[in-house]
Amino acid sequence: MTIFRAFGRGAFGVLSASALALSGTARAMDAGKVVPPVDEALMREVIKTLSADELAGRGPASAEEAATLDVIVARFMAAGLEPGNKGQDGQKSWFQDVPTVSMRASGFSPLSITGGGKVLAFAHGKDFVAGSYRVVPETVVKDAELVFVGYGVNAPELGWNDYAGVDMKGKVAVILVNDPDYAMESEDGPFKGRRMTYYGRWTYKFEEAARQGAVGAILVHDTFPAAYGWNVVESSWSGDQHFVATPNDAADQTAFNSWIQKAAAQSVFKAAGKDLAAMTAAAGQKGFKPVPLGLKANLSFKSAITRSTSRNVVGIQPGGEAPEEYVLYSAHWDHLGRCKPDASGDDICNGAVDNGTGMAALVALAEMNKAAGPARRTQVYLAWTLEESGLLGSEYYARNPLFPLAQTVGGVNIDALYPGGAARDVAVTGGDKSELSALLAKVAGELQLKTGPEDGSEKGYYYRSDHFSLAKRGVPMFYVKRGTDLADGGVAAGKALAEDYVVNRYHQPSDEYSDDWDMRGIVQEVDLYYRLGRPLADGADWPNWNAGDEFRAIRDQSWASAK
Ligand SMILES: [Zn+2]
Repeated sequence: MTIFRAFGRGAFGVLSASALALSGTARAMDAGKVVPPVDEALMREVIKTLSADELAGRGPASAEEAATLDVIVARFMAAGLEPGNKGQDGQKSWFQDVPTVSMRASGFSPLSITGGGKVLAFAHGKDFVAGSYRVVPETVVKDAELVFVGYGVNAPELGWNDYAGVDMKGKVAVILVNDPDYAMESEDGPFKGRRMTYYGRWTYKFEEAARQGAVGAILVHDTFPAAYGWNVVESSWSGDQHFVATPNDAADQTAFNSWIQKAAAQSVFKAAGKDLAAMTAAAGQKGFKPVPLGLKANLSFKSAITRSTSRNVVGIQPGGEAPEEYVLYSAHWDHLGRCKPDASGDDICNGAVDNGTGMAALVALAEMNKAAGPARRTQVYLAWTLEESGLLGSEYYARNPLFPLAQTVGGVNIDALYPGGAARDVAVTGGDKSELSALLAKVAGELQLKTGPEDGSEKGYYYRSDHFSLAKRGVPMFYVKRGTDLADGGVAAGKALAEDYVVNRYHQPSDEYSDDWDMRGIVQEVDLYYRLGRPLADGADWPNWNAGDEFRAIRDQSWASAK
């Protein structure tokens, strides 16, 4: 996982712990169907193998990648899966190649803003950061007009377009972070109030600026709505930036994307004879129109380009009645490889929890579905690469799907399951976005698991994990984990467990497997994932996003064009 997600979730209440007692016996599900037991011993074996020092932390494109993929394929074969891809020779293949591009920007000129008889020159790092998504060795932007486009949102389903009436060709969009109603206490606003929508994510803003034809985009940093300080922006925009390779080398993207400190933005607005606070207030109102600032931007820098290839692993269980309809289970196989040594000199980030557990869950689910026999629809098992580099394996798959997205019903992504006890609650990330919620509510009811309000809904976690590569292209995906209210010890124990992980193990050489692990909680989660996936695979429903959700139109379009 790239960020820690579960810590800090609220308490959801207390229910009978006996309902959670997990045994090896199969239990009733849906009209006489039984849930095969989760094979804990198998999961331990998979976690142990994948997190062993021999695989050196599973770095993508590392010397150990081939051996890592061998382990995964062997487990997939043992679970009776078939290869899910075809190679160039037409033979069946377990792999999907994922070509990537890494770029490191350097040699920045100041970001200079001219107009109104003034020249403002901002320093790289201190005042602004920037980079190119286009795969080009040099970026030069000269005298490009600045246009303030508020929150940079184009949301037809809400009748909201911050680019209304302006042609952005050759111009630079100046954009506020988050979405217009982020400061609300409730989640009732047009952009779900304090809950972040995709329109509030910085990734969306750069994508939309490119769709509008802008030559560049400047995001105005502000610590409260961004939810992190300038130091985070500065460090994450230095060093290599990773992207999936595209046939046009991302020529459809802006020439540069950047962030600017709020104080610098205030001086830009002042030079334009405007006030940032007043403009921000105006941008929060429906009907806001973009404002040309009468200023021009100049910027140049170089980008060092490195190309590389890693692989996703794909296995399938063909469906019995509707083999051309697909349900996905996914988890990322990669981790950080060799990393900063700890005090003992250990420099292997083993990634036992992150994401040896997710991979073990994927294998266990394949075995459970084998035991249950063929489902109505085809079940697809995807082991992503390059999650830690920015969700690249899943992004590449979603751009180049092996099974049409319009025929992909939905799925479950699995990332970093913590050892420890079972919980009395389920943490749902992203809120009630799609008709999958009904299935989750039914299953949680059967298991007597509480679901509750999402803590930290303003942080937009739904938009930061592998399932989102599919969700943003219309495929509804579950993002659920067991909650923090543990059957043994309640919320205090659950939070202590999560905190121990984030402080002592997360992305460190100490994320290692031990036979002492308490697997009860992990087994509970895999059982839950089966109960969410299998009914989708046996069913004939096509759950859509809820009306008004930001991905509904994409799904409707995808279905319409597939007909
Ligand atoms: Zn991670």
